[in-house]
Amino acid sequence: MGRTLYDKVFDRHAVRPLPSGQVQLFMDLHLVHELTSPQAFGMLRERGLGVACPERTFATCDHVIPTASRARPFADRDAEELLVALEKDCARYGIRYLSPAKGEQGIVHVVGPELGLTQPGMTICCGDSHTSTHGAFGAIAFGIGTTQVRDVLATQSLAMEKLKVRRIEVHGRLRPGVYAKDVVLAVLRRLGVKAGAGYAYEFGGSTIDAFTMEERMTVCNMAVEGGAVCGYVNPDATTYAYLRGREYAPKGAAWNDAVRSWDALRSDPDARYDDVVTIAAEEIEPIVTWGITPGQSSAVNAPLPSPSDVPEGDRKLVENAYAYMGFTPGRPLRGQAIDVAFIGSCTNGRFSDFEEVARHLKRSGRKVRPGVRALVVPGSQKVREQLVAAGYDRVFREAGFEFREAGCSMCLAVNADKLVGREICASSSNRNFKGRQGSPVGRTLLMSPVMVAAAAVSGHVEDAREVFALNS
Ligand code: SF4
Repeated sequence: MGRTLYDKVFDRHAVRPLPSGQVQLFMDLHLVHELTSPQAFGMLRERGLGVACPERTFATCDHVIPTASRARPFADRDAEELLVALEKDCARYGIRYLSPAKGEQGIVHVVGPELGLTQPGMTICCGDSHTSTHGAFGAIAFGIGTTQVRDVLATQSLAMEKLKVRRIEVHGRLRPGVYAKDVVLAVLRRLGVKAGAGYAYEFGGSTIDAFTMEERMTVCNMAVEGGAVCGYVNPDATTYAYLRGREYAPKGAAWNDAVRSWDALRSDPDARYDDVVTIAAEEIEPIVTWGITPGQSSAVNAPLPSPSDVPEGDRKLVENAYAYMGFTPGRPLRGQAIDVAFIGSCTNGRFSDFEEVARHLKRSGRKVRPGVRALVVPGSQKVREQLVAAGYDRVFREAGFEFREAGCSMCLAVNADKLVGREICASSSNRNFKGRQGSPVGRTLLMSPVMVAAAAVSGHVEDAREVFALNS
């Protein structure tokens, strides 16, 4: 019986079985950021422990960093304190800090792949839920809590249970105006946000095979929103082409050895899965969330479901969502006015995300509708540099977007980029929970970056295919 990539990577990294029934798993790479690390470093010191593998630990600042100005000290004292603490901890323990002053900073799930730190067959962890992003490279990558950050700093390992594996196959060609974000939103709508509990999601099929690495990252990023611990794609020529030549990728003869070993990690053709789900790419439309979980979504032109249409177990959550969002079942979300448009985050804050939007803005000449606050926030300083080099910063500014510095920004809104009151935000991020974007009563509509741009220039949710003539 063949084995999955998940099984192979898990078994390779198992140190020993634990009395709890769990397995001690070695971590190849630990990514650290300013929001969840200070407490963990503090706990280390309380116990008189050091960092076991500083050479496998990399730090960046992303969550609290301001995106309007980088001048130090930051106006937000708490943000300044968090950054100073991270800088000191990195210096004290010999950890490489990806510094804004050196142009290395960015969202932790953007900079890891950029540097070639993320590689096939690795186990990767970080104190952030969307660590699943790194699975796009055929890594087993997952988010951990603060005490686990402490454990990994101290031991470079974690106590883990072995997961089941669900293969999600997407076949066929996406229609124009439908993107990787729509694919993963379609998966979440089909399976719900809890079905992944106890599972790793393996994404495959001809649609995923044809995706770029940045598209695969968008899909794996949101595996965690389906309740999965991690999501991954088997490594292939696309993976290797992306990695080759990056700072931490193997070089010379080591590269060929690495590719041989990565190829051997792919799930075997006769691998056994605990579940297989198949989705037809042609059936996916541009999707917008209307509720308070990423699974509560509809095609942009489809009427919103009535609470009576959903299974009884989900009805309360649907009623709760309508009460919070103030939308009406039976009507499509198309036409719903928005206040803010946000393009960025570790889901859709990479070069190709912005390039696609900039192309359509330039070609159409459309401008942000007066009254809409529209933010473009690159996922890293490198992404920002590339956008500036391509002249896309001008395209965004001329279209009426604010072109900001790199960071998480309005995805979690723990910096100054926040919704105000009941504002509605068309957002390319990954979570639409109540209060997610900084206002306790703010409302988030998740969608692809091109759909966000269509909403920004229309002043309301629109079908990007019509706004930007994508069908022609
Ligand atoms: S962009 Fe959002 S989800 Fe991604 S790391 Fe930052 S806060 Fe977390």
